[in-house]
Amino acid sequence: MKFNKVLDNLKIYEAGKPIELVVREYGVAPEDIIKLASNENPYGISPKVGEVLQNYINAMSIYPDDSFYELKKALAHKFKVDNKNIIIGAGSDQIIEFCVKAKTNENSNILMAKTTFAMYEIYSKQVGANILRTKSDTHNLNEFRELYKDNGADIIFLCLPNNPLGECLDKDDVYKFISEVDSNTLVVVDGAYQEYAKFKDKKKQISPDDLIKTFPNTIYLGTFSKAYSLGGMRVGYGIANEGIIQELHKLRPPFNITTLSLKAGIEALKDEKFVKESIEKNFKEMDRYIKFAKDKKIEYIESYTNFITLLLNNSISASELSKNLLKKGVIIRDLSSYGVNAIRVTIGTKFQNDRVLKIFNELL
Ligand SMILES: *Cc1c(COP(=O)(O)O)cnc(C)c1O
Repeated sequence: MKFNKVLDNLKIYEAGKPIELVVREYGVAPEDIIKLASNENPYGISPKVGEVLQNYINAMSIYPDDSFYELKKALAHKFKVDNKNIIIGAGSDQIIEFCVKAKTNENSNILMAKTTFAMYEIYSKQVGANILRTKSDTHNLNEFRELYKDNGADIIFLCLPNNPLGECLDKDDVYKFISEVDSNTLVVVDGAYQEYAKFKDKKKQISPDDLIKTFPNTIYLGTFSKAYSLGGMRVGYGIANEGIIQELHKLRPPFNITTLSLKAGIEALKDEKFVKESIEKNFKEMDRYIKFAKDKKIEYIESYTNFITLLLNNSISASELSKNLLKKGVIIRDLSSYGVNAIRVTIGTKFQNDRVLKIFNELL
């Protein structure tokens, strides 16, 4: 059977390995598995969210309010924008998909950093668009400028901070760059880890209201999957000017997040204390990985996220190391498939990090 030819160039996205797979393949007991591969919040959910959801469980028999009014209102309040500036997605992944479909086709260029979030590439390939990547792994705006000047682009993806490497551009540099971009190019600012970045360094903070007012050709993406601890619920959002949001809504399937996800998002926004504490613990625990790396003379990238990327020298292979960690029940992200000999480790709880650092110490 013949399929759309764009699929020939597509590989299936390889998600972080699930706990179930390590149980099956390596015979490790589920309670001994530490999963630090998908940048989830390791502190579980806010107890307040859990309590509300338990009492809400019967609502799963009904469709959600498809306007997602209450969630948008809460987000609008938080970010000082209007409901009309917001679109809700099944994770911000889905908003990336809407942006690509809304703006590009097989004649388009889509510009991104060399080593960045894999979904940008996957959605770009789904429409057959041409992908332009910088030479440097991390975001280098001069290389973005050059590629843009020479080729143009319908979409530019800026991942701030960048997954899977962890670096983050300064807001001032980002603004300067966007000010040079044509108003018909959509600049996607992916803020999946902005909560972490702005906590660590105010210079990294991008405020969606200011961004979209200053630059009408931008969209800010946020997610509940990381700091807000709802990875399993699949809730994300895009913030942009009304004209952009209206176009994206044409691509949105009805009821694209579930009744329970909607409620979880609304409740999660009410417990900012939980989020703040998670972020504080994150950086405190990250310091231990930094100290370990320094002690062992392992290079790392300064991280503004809830993970740290260790750059391994040629004597250790990232895939080999990842496999050996798996055998001990530790799931981390091998970045070999991105073309870098590096591993990405989500910062876990103190208990998890104690064990992981002990095993690192044995293996590295
Ligand atoms: C996790 C992540 C997202 C979105 O995740 P969803 O779970 O789909 O909301 C988007 N961008 C980056 C860079 C991420 O790391």
